[in-house]
Amino acid sequence: MKPITTRNTLKMENKKEMRQWLDDFGLNHPLVIGGPCSAETEEQVLKIAHELKDTDVTVYRAGIWKPRTRPGMFEGVGAIGLGWLKKVKEETGLLTATEVANKDHVKLALENDIDILWIGARSTVSPFIMQEIADALEGTDKIVLVKNPVNPDLALWLGGVERLYSSNIKKLGLIHRGFSTYEKTKYRNIPEWQIAIEVKNRFPDLPMICDPSHISGRRDLIFDVSQAALDLNFDGLMIESHWDPDNAWSDAAQQVTPTRLVEIMKDLKVRKETTNEENYQNELNNLRAQIDVMDQTLLDTLGKRMQVSGQIGKLKKENNVAVLQNKRWNEILGRMILEGQERKLSEEFILRVFKAIHQESINQQEKILNS
Ligand code: PEP
Ligand code: MN
Repeated sequence: MKPITTRNTLKMENKKEMRQWLDDFGLNHPLVIGGPCSAETEEQVLKIAHELKDTDVTVYRAGIWKPRTRPGMFEGVGAIGLGWLKKVKEETGLLTATEVANKDHVKLALENDIDILWIGARSTVSPFIMQEIADALEGTDKIVLVKNPVNPDLALWLGGVERLYSSNIKKLGLIHRGFSTYEKTKYRNIPEWQIAIEVKNRFPDLPMICDPSHISGRRDLIFDVSQAALDLNFDGLMIESHWDPDNAWSDAAQQVTPTRLVEIMKDLKVRKETTNEENYQNELNNLRAQIDVMDQTLLDTLGKRMQVSGQIGKLKKENNVAVLQNKRWNEILGRMILEGQERKLSEEFILRVFKAIHQESINQQEKILNS
């Protein structure tokens, strides 16, 4: 392994070459990567692939080595499945993609001419593994996609891409598959769209693909998550598809049949990035002006609220009372959730906003108490 300490953080801005591979596909719609979570049998792999050829699917995915959270679950068929993917390419013309998680996987995938290799969320999280994979891939002209790490850590995600970039791999992209949380939400992995948006803003040339299957964890959410991604101008989607989803050997709840995948692709709306149409521009400017005023008001109100918090902090200090008053805080939260509902604001949103406000309030009071 190369000594990481001697590397400089890369400047990847304006690296149009990173997305050249996607432009070269010449698609008039977002890229779609479809296929089963896991390759199970040769028959299963080929059957699904044949159902997905001649659709908007360009790339066929199938996990050969499966990173399982708990031992004893299906860990993938291993190298034998690479031959099945080769057959997929020969018989259907689809490009092929699989996950690699160490240097042996990389060697085998390259030997078997897999077109796209992706790094899974449990690998991106480990700089050691990422470096091992980057070293094994050095100079490859294959396309390499990096899934976000399981935890919402932007630096770790970009660090993965930087390691690949400095291993002279120039056909790169990101896959947004959501982030794991301890809290139970309707998602298997919460999207935290703002993180993906931040990456897109910083590296507009790095293709960003959404994986609605692993964000959702259940098939009935896949359409909405896919549409949300397209509304945010994502470059593509990776959707798990199995001919018999309920009996899939992994991720059964989130897979859709090829028929359903085709339906999803047909119903998704691809938005124009923008338009110069005059009415649209006028209306948009008008609405944006309103938003700007409201954001200003929000900021002013927050500022004033924190000043009052500060006064409370002073009062608590004079009376030697603890900063955190749990009972009062729970009352506020309960009330805000109810009032939020009346304004069509989700509980999840209210919790996030008020937890953040409360935290800032505590920080400000702590400062006063300890000054
Ligand atoms: C997968 O794509 O099947 C997979 C294991 O994904 P992730 O790394 O996002 O969990
Ligand atoms: Mn899966």
